[in-house]
Amino acid sequence: MEKIRVTVWNEFRHEKMEDSVKSVYPDGIHKVIADFLESDGFLVRTAVLDDDHCGITDELLENTDVLIWWGHMAHHEVPDHIAAKVRDAVLKGMGMVFLHSGHHSKPFRLLMGTTCNLSWREHGDRERLWVVDPSHPIAKGIDRYVNIPHEETYAEPFDIPEPEKLVFIGWYDGGEVFRSGCCYHRGNGNIFYFQPGHETFPTYKIPEIQTIIKNAVRWAAPVYRVNELVCPNIEKLTD
Ligand code: ZN
Repeated sequence: MEKIRVTVWNEFRHEKMEDSVKSVYPDGIHKVIADFLESDGFLVRTAVLDDDHCGITDELLENTDVLIWWGHMAHHEVPDHIAAKVRDAVLKGMGMVFLHSGHHSKPFRLLMGTTCNLSWREHGDRERLWVVDPSHPIAKGIDRYVNIPHEETYAEPFDIPEPEKLVFIGWYDGGEVFRSGCCYHRGNGNIFYFQPGHETFPTYKIPEIQTIIKNAVRWAAPVYRVNELVCPNIEKLTD
């Protein structure tokens, strides 16, 4: 079987600017995610905001089966035409996994069509990430819940379209709940939104979180891709 080609895109700003983040992810969030994916047999590339063209080129998108996206403080620095390219790649069949604050990224908002606003609170609460769909492929290998010692609290209402499948619900010490694992299909592409991953906590080093992201990549991998988004006319049958 051919290896799934994954690109991990990271804004990579907090890790350079804030010691509290640098100490958790000295080489960037993308490096930690790329390493655990690579060790599981995925073919991995990374791209960051400060690369030429924000790291997003036609060549990259054409050769990416699943794009993982982490961004937060610089969503606005991704030009609209780049965000549109990412959306179009999904419509053509590329899979996409949006992590944590990627809920406000331009590509996610384009694909959802809503504000994607949510309620939030940053007190390092414990999160219990509940599996609500144990037979879903993204929950494979996960017990009833995952304990995350510290996370940023994300809470409802989360202004997203009704998920086509809800796989996880997050619960926090403050009693808040959140739709933490949401599946969508847009055009020919699969999309998974996954809430955990605030930059000051080592969430992406938790084995169960890594399992979920690997499962999500396998689930989101394309089944069918088109080269062009066209609306063809067809000839009438003549015999
Ligand atoms: Zn955060």
